[in-house]
Amino acid sequence: SIPLGYFGGIGGASAAGILIKGANYLETLAELDTVVFDKTGTLTEGVFEVSGVYPEKGYSREELLGLAAFAESHSNHPIAGAIRRAAETIPSEFRIDASLNTFEEIAGKGVRAEWLGKPLLAGNQTLLRENNIPSPPPVEKDKGEAASSVLIAYGENYIGTIAVSDRIREDAAGLVTALHGKGIRHTVMLTGDSETGAKAVAEKLGLDSYYAKLLPDEKLSKLEEIMASPRTYKRTAFVGDGINDAPVLSRADVGIAMGGIGSDAAIEAADVVLMDDKPSNLATAITGAKRTRGVVL
Ligand code: ADP
Ligand code: MG
Repeated sequence: SIPLGYFGGIGGASAAGILIKGANYLETLAELDTVVFDKTGTLTEGVFEVSGVYPEKGYSREELLGLAAFAESHSNHPIAGAIRRAAETIPSEFRIDASLNTFEEIAGKGVRAEWLGKPLLAGNQTLLRENNIPSPPPVEKDKGEAASSVLIAYGENYIGTIAVSDRIREDAAGLVTALHGKGIRHTVMLTGDSETGAKAVAEKLGLDSYYAKLLPDEKLSKLEEIMASPRTYKRTAFVGDGINDAPVLSRADVGIAMGGIGSDAAIEAADVVLMDDKPSNLATAITGAKRTRGVVL
């Protein structure tokens, strides 16, 4: 049975917007040593906006946006939504209303579509490289704190970049300090985003370490590596929004999902759900779990 301490156990947690799926997870939360975060949608809002459009010679901004929005028309990724919204403002002659017959979403890389019999790609450097398309070296087109570049290619050529930016959740400020104060020794961020995008967020939030350019299955192996590390002597939590990270949520000692922005798969796979998408509620949950177990903080 659960001793009902200050926190009021699971009931008290749910009043605070924290859903804990079993008493055993209170135990795990109280013993946490390492917290691993996903970036997009977890530490950031996961709501992107187009912050710049940079066509190559021979293309206009409108053409580039029209082609990119067409390529992204079937993707649920938040980056795709931002590009589609931006394309709503371009004149109709640049919008492609045709139905997309050939479409492939490559997790952690982008999308591959077809237009007038030629391949149309929207994604990161890895996606272009794998399709043998020479792309320009990464440039900082945008100084936003969580900006990413979406590279567009048509046929055999790179045709431009669309910069998208996301915002760090206001609620995440002070989180690392709060967690350190509750016995968490390592805070880590895993992301599929570029090195520059990852570094900006990690530095701003004061995370102990981060790993960028990870594919969804590499996030899982990185988590396993962290869990096997001799520095980690107790328990590891993974906090994610569930876009491509349900397996990682399941693998951690305690999987924590964002309940508002998170996918159904994430909420299902998680042991703890932060209903209001507030990373700071993780610190609240740890405090509550320790108090429930009689640890005075
Ligand atoms: P994160 O690990 O930050 O949650 P994802 O694994 O969802 O990010 O995506 C990693 C990277 O893959 C993105 O930063 C982006 O460069 C690229 N990407 C993924 N999906 C798309 C898409 N639909 N359109 C363009 N780029 C994409
Ligand atoms: Mg994510």
